Amino acid sequence: MLCCKYIRIMKLETIIGLEIHTQLKTKSKMFCSCARVAETAPANSSICPICMGHPGTLPVPNMEAVRLGMKAALAMKGNIYEQTKFDRKNYFYPDLPKGYQISQYDKPLSQGGELVVEVPDNSIASRKVIRVEFERLHLEEDAAKNTHGTSGESFVDFNRGGTPLAEIVTRPDMRSPEEARAFLQELRRILRELDISDADMEKGNLRCDANVSMRPIDENGVPISLTLHPKTEVKNINSFRSLERAIYFEIDRQSELWATNTPPAQSSTRGWNDEKGITELQRVKEGAADYRYFPEPDIPPLDLTSMLASVKRHVVELPAEKRARFMAEYFVSEADARIITDSKELSNYFEQVVSETNEWLDRPFDSRASKLVTGWMLSKLAGLMKVKGVDWATLKITAENFAEFVKIIDHEETTGANALKILEIMLENGEDPSQIMEERGLGRVSDEAMIQKLVEMVIESNPKQAAEFRAGKEPILKFLIGMVMKASEGKADPVITEKLMRATLGK
Ligand code: ZN
Ligand code: MN
Repeated sequence: MLCCKYIRIMKLETIIGLEIHTQLKTKSKMFCSCARVAETAPANSSICPICMGHPGTLPVPNMEAVRLGMKAALAMKGNIYEQTKFDRKNYFYPDLPKGYQISQYDKPLSQGGELVVEVPDNSIASRKVIRVEFERLHLEEDAAKNTHGTSGESFVDFNRGGTPLAEIVTRPDMRSPEEARAFLQELRRILRELDISDADMEKGNLRCDANVSMRPIDENGVPISLTLHPKTEVKNINSFRSLERAIYFEIDRQSELWATNTPPAQSSTRGWNDEKGITELQRVKEGAADYRYFPEPDIPPLDLTSMLASVKRHVVELPAEKRARFMAEYFVSEADARIITDSKELSNYFEQVVSETNEWLDRPFDSRASKLVTGWMLSKLAGLMKVKGVDWATLKITAENFAEFVKIIDHEETTGANALKILEIMLENGEDPSQIMEERGLGRVSDEAMIQKLVEMVIESNPKQAAEFRAGKEPILKFLIGMVMKASEGKADPVITEKLMRATLGK
């Protein structure tokens, strides 16, 4: 029998599973009516006897949190337990005033499900499309936040304690840091698109632990044995970049252990240190921690039959489905569809613009209109917005005005240079484009007599270049037309200008 000990040069594959905690976008906390406040709120300003765990208080489940968790579970194609319940997970820590966390144990909100994710191909170790299965999704309350002072004292801010969380656990279905990142980004898109969570890793309302282990494979990439080896659970990951870096670090560390014939014998928990770029040992797991789970006696089991029917009725479109629809219906390229569907505000705005453009144009929305909309929206407008620090949610340009702007370009009522000026003014004050064009004289001049005057003027003041063009130096024409454009402040119709310039110079 083949044994790992006798393989000198061993090929390994990386096995990755993720555990994600995401704060649900509710007004109040999970089991009391305290407001869910931002991390920046004054410490202990949103607390009450229930979330402080005072004796004699009764928790009441926030049904909005249950509904949001259910939406996430449906998007993941999980099997929902219509009869669900809460359990107590017992452990002692200063950030947990009750001495237990109300969570869900054997009847979570949902089990199973899957997500199909496209992986941007930037690594040979990644597959193009991956299918990640889910273990479960359960609801629970967040713990409070500990901070440590400079002279050894510690503080607890209970504002976060009791915040509704959905914990999502995947199966170990990812094989590279790039795959893990692509999966988490797609999950974040879904959580945002469906208004389930703000899902901002930097703000801590999307937190991710990565379980990483390795196993030997043969020359064809087939695992020598399907057994999973003891894993490392990496905590404190607070950005997509750290997720990738932390897994890369673990691959190096664990490969080294395998290479020296000492693969990890026990599972362990390690913390990611972003500054040092390393994971540090926190504890070795001797066995599964004993949390002495038991059913929460203060909350009766929930019957979610009618809620499930109503949430299911509001069928929701997932980002991947929306991308495919934009490509098919609106002639958008795959790359642009990806950019547009990455932000809910932008995709809503884009769809409104498309529908308004339909009204403004005297023909159905076609690929030419699509190119104008995406080009001006994603590069020109987005570029100006970046400079001015405007985002899609606060943009002053209404969809109707942007559509009219697209019509002005489509009907060649202005030149490219002046269109950009109009757009800048629209961004500034939200005025409608035709008004800006008329008031500031930014339209296109196609009056031939007027352009002819400018052509003659330019020839007169640039006799050398005019002679060169006459002598056959074709490229100099661009310069001469440019001079006419300049003299007309960008308004002269370039096609008419070229025609008149050629006629006047006899070419
Ligand atoms: Zn409270
Ligand atoms: Mn948890």
